[in-house]
Amino acid sequence: MEFCPKCGALLMMKKTRAGCPRCNYTAKGKVNMEMKEEVDAAVPVVVVNEKEGNVNPITDWDCHKCKSKRAYFWIRQMRAGDEAESKFYQCVKCKHTVRVDN
Ligand SMILES: [Zn+2]
Ligand SMILES: [Zn+2]
Repeated sequence: MEFCPKCGALLMMKKTRAGCPRCNYTAKGKVNMEMKEEVDAAVPVVVVNEKEGNVNPITDWDCHKCKSKRAYFWIRQMRAGDEAESKFYQCVKCKHTVRVDN
């Protein structure tokens, strides 16, 4: 960034050279219009750790143990792809987990 030596306004790039938008001062060449600010470092990737908190969606489900009607729900494929996937429900209250095979 460069500023006008006459009035202090921020110089703007015109067709071939920089100039002052306020007083018509014209620089003798191109000015560096790039901002000197540091570019933010790359945002770290958030890794979801399954051991920290249950990130599964909650669905309606009747718990046999505590009569709660809310449970975490997830699907997990067992071993090879030719096997049926299993559904899991985990009660939000008592953590009772039930596996349901298709
Ligand atoms: Zn000026
Ligand atoms: Zn329960």
